[in-house]
Amino acid sequence: MSIRENLNQIISSLPKGIKLIVVSKTRTNEELIEAYNAGQRAFGENKVQELIRKQKELPGDIEWHLIGHLQTNKVKSVVSAVSMIHSVDSLKLLKIIDREAELVGKTVDCLLQVHIAKEETKFGFSVDELLRDLNSEEFKSLSNVKIKGLMGMATFTDHEEQVREEFKSMHQIFEQVKIRFFANDPDFKELSMGMSDDYPIAIEEGSTIVRIGSKIFGPRIYPAAPKI
Ligand SMILES: *Cc1c(COP(=O)(O)O)cnc(C)c1O
Repeated sequence: MSIRENLNQIISSLPKGIKLIVVSKTRTNEELIEAYNAGQRAFGENKVQELIRKQKELPGDIEWHLIGHLQTNKVKSVVSAVSMIHSVDSLKLLKIIDREAELVGKTVDCLLQVHIAKEETKFGFSVDELLRDLNSEEFKSLSNVKIKGLMGMATFTDHEEQVREEFKSMHQIFEQVKIRFFANDPDFKELSMGMSDDYPIAIEEGSTIVRIGSKIFGPRIYPAAPKI
C-alpha cells in the first residue's frame, strides 16, 4: 500500500477530535511530500538537526512537532522552528525554552513528558517530580511557554494488558494534574500517547494526540552498526 493509502486508512479509523502527528524521522523529503500531498500538515521529528533541515526544505505550512529528547544546548536553534515540543522532561529544560522563546518573541506550546514505562531508557518526569515542579514558584513565573498537556510512552512490549495499564495510569495522572494545577485553563487538554503498535489502545484510554510513523511509511531502516 502507498503512503497515501496507509495515511487515509489511519485517518478514517481515528475517532473525531484525535490529532494525528505523522512521525517522519529518518524519512526522505519525498516520503514526507507524499503525506503532505494527501493533506497531512503535522509532522513529528525526534532530532533537532533533522527537524530544522526539513523545516527549511519543505513547505512553510507544515507544523513541526519535536517528540524526542531535547538537549538544553539545542533549544535555541529549535525554538523558532517548532509548533509544539512534546518531550519536555525537566523544569530546567522548560526554563531554557521559556527564555529562548522570549528572546524570539514567541510562546511555545509544550507537553510535559511523564515517565510511565518500565524501561530505564525512556525520558520524562516521575509523578513526584512533576507535582513538585508544577508547585514551584519557578514554574509559575514562566511566561513564554504554554503547557497544553502531557505526553507518555508505554513500555515496548507485546503484553497488551501492561500497555493498557500504563496508558490508564497516564490518563489518571493527566486528570490529577489538570484538577490540581490547570483547573481554570481550557488549553490544558492534550494527552499525547500512542504509536503505530499501540495507538488503538491509547485512544481507548484517553489519548488526544497519536504519533504514528512506521504504520504509514513502513519499517524504519537504520544504518547497521559499524563492525568492530
Ligand atoms: C519514533 C517515535 C514514534 C513513532 O513510532 P512508530 O512506531 O514508527 O509509529 C512516536 N513517538 C516517539 C517519541 C518516537 O520517537
